[in-house]
Amino acid sequence: MIVVIGAGVMGLASALALLRKGREVVVLERHRRAGLDTSTHNSGVIHAGLHYPPGSLKARLCVEGRDRLKAFCAAHNVPHHTSGKLVVATDTSEEPAIDALAANARASDVEVEVVDAAFVHAKEPNVRATRALWSPHTAWIEAEAYVKALQREVERLGGHVLPGSPVLGVEPEGDHVQVITPLERIDADLVVNAAGLMADEVSAVCGGEPFTIYPCRGEYAELTPKASALVNGLVYPVPHHSGHGLGVHLTKTVSGTVWLGPTIRYQDRKDDYEADREPLEAFLASTQRLLPALTLADLRLSGSGIRAKIHPPTQKFADFLIRRDTRRPWLIHAAGIDSPGLTASLAIGDLVARTAD
Ligand SMILES: Cc1cc2nc3c(=O)[nH]c(=O)nc-3n(C[C@H](O)[C@H](O)[C@H](O)COP(=O)(O)OP(=O)(O)OC[C@H]3O[C@@H](n4cnc5c(N)ncnc54)[C@H](O)[C@@H]3O)c2cc1C
Repeated sequence: MIVVIGAGVMGLASALALLRKGREVVVLERHRRAGLDTSTHNSGVIHAGLHYPPGSLKARLCVEGRDRLKAFCAAHNVPHHTSGKLVVATDTSEEPAIDALAANARASDVEVEVVDAAFVHAKEPNVRATRALWSPHTAWIEAEAYVKALQREVERLGGHVLPGSPVLGVEPEGDHVQVITPLERIDADLVVNAAGLMADEVSAVCGGEPFTIYPCRGEYAELTPKASALVNGLVYPVPHHSGHGLGVHLTKTVSGTVWLGPTIRYQDRKDDYEADREPLEAFLASTQRLLPALTLADLRLSGSGIRAKIHPPTQKFADFLIRRDTRRPWLIHAAGIDSPGLTASLAIGDLVARTAD
């Protein structure tokens, strides 16, 4: 029996891959249903893989995962839409960043095209740009529907998803372990740590190696329904020089809403989505840079999410942590899964299942 801790997209995709290999799997989730944390508090973008260091797990699993995810969506009626994405230089000083991003994307075999202002105007007449990078394969997915479809598949293949089951402890017993929840003890020969923001605490509970998950909030505003007509797809600024996040961007969902964000701010708490929210004014300048016609009256506040980063703000990049624990060989981590985790989820699930062999 394999116990997966956490029923976000990582836990569910890992469970699915393990079940397909004939393993017996139970997924334990502390909340009342699957996917209530980061898996449904994100931008829903199926990234093409432009932004990650070539050769990193993030780059490789993003490229592998995005095509698998689109095929899964098509097979399981998960709403999604391939609109493509524009990363725009709003003046000539930003153009070198477009060329650098194009080179980075091509080094990961991601199809992109450097395009001129006329190309942008034809796709997005209201967006200001002197040059842009066009990524034809970037898409959008309804994350909640994806979580539900994954859970249905896990259960169809005989897996169990048990909500209301916080893991309180894991006790080694011979070559097995006992996974302890308030209701039961489950005997397992392998444990998958897919606990998102709590992955560091779950590793500690298992006696695994120490690492730290740094909660990092991303907040969103959105355009009013009338202003949403100003945007047709996904429009990003050039990446922020801090190296953190992709910059406040415009994301048109399948329902036609346009999200602005996410912002980026490290915080102490892992469960605080609302305290000290950025005021609406904080979104105006960065959005107007892309969409000059916009006024404050066109914006309203929207949701937020918390990234499970495995690096502190002083560090620009860390890769996903997907491997066996060095202290507890029966423990496999799928941790530090910030963006592009949603995109890469099915590929990450497969990697977890291979690691379990
Ligand atoms: C603002 C924001 C925007 C993003 N945008 C994108 C995007 O556009 N595209 C993209 O590809 N990715 C994006 N991501 C990243 C993506 O959302 C995550 O990589 C992905 O959802 C992580 O899934 P997970 O299963 O690891 O985590 P989670 O969904 O957080 O799941 C972990 C689960 O573990 C459970 N758990 C924790 N502790 C215990 C315990 N002790 N016992 C039982 N259960 C436990 C939790 O309750 C939770 O349900 C974004 C993230 C954020 C925050």
